[in-house]
Amino acid sequence: MARYTGSACRLCRRENLKLFIKGDRCYGDKCAFERRPYAPGQHGQRRGGKYSDYRLQLREKQKVKRIYGVLEGQFRRYYYQAEKKKGITGINLLILLECRLDNIVYRMGFASSRKQARQLVRHNHFTVNDQKVNIPSFQIKVGDVVAVKEGSRKVQSIVDAVETVIRRGIPNWIEIEKEHFRGTLKSIPNREDLTMPIQEQLIVELYSK
Ligand code: SF4
Repeated sequence: MARYTGSACRLCRRENLKLFIKGDRCYGDKCAFERRPYAPGQHGQRRGGKYSDYRLQLREKQKVKRIYGVLEGQFRRYYYQAEKKKGITGINLLILLECRLDNIVYRMGFASSRKQARQLVRHNHFTVNDQKVNIPSFQIKVGDVVAVKEGSRKVQSIVDAVETVIRRGIPNWIEIEKEHFRGTLKSIPNREDLTMPIQEQLIVELYSK
């Protein structure tokens, strides 16, 4: 499966926003965005000026793709799915992304970043409703129980993530039983629950052209 293999910090600098791709490092003073808060490249510090509507829409789409670690083709498929659902397309899109198994694992605090969550899921460390699932894009539904497999509860990256999750907190639409290494999706998040600065309407405008 195709994936982005370039510098993660470069993406944050490109989007002018901390995307928290590297887990622990993102919270320390080694964060590249804190040290160099301007676009990457030779002309990074000179870029700016007026953004056209198209450029704003494109940047917003790139930003959301990068936050959730989804590539173009899959992102577009999420958009078409969102369009077919009842309700507001932009919000449907964000909900589809939020309900990916890798994102839920990250939100539950079993991984320190979405990138790490994706890797842990692929390596068979999780179950959904007691069934082994190793597909990061697997959609979690309300009431589903996501758990760390018994044999994986001593995996250092999971233990570290559980210990440090307090720093970002657990969203109120998720219920955690920390001692049992499992959590439940209590409800679908409301738009107000998703606090990343995203203007999803711009993405809808881009794809509706
Ligand atoms: Fe982004 Fe994290 Fe790198 Fe900082 S350390 S630039 S938040 S990926």
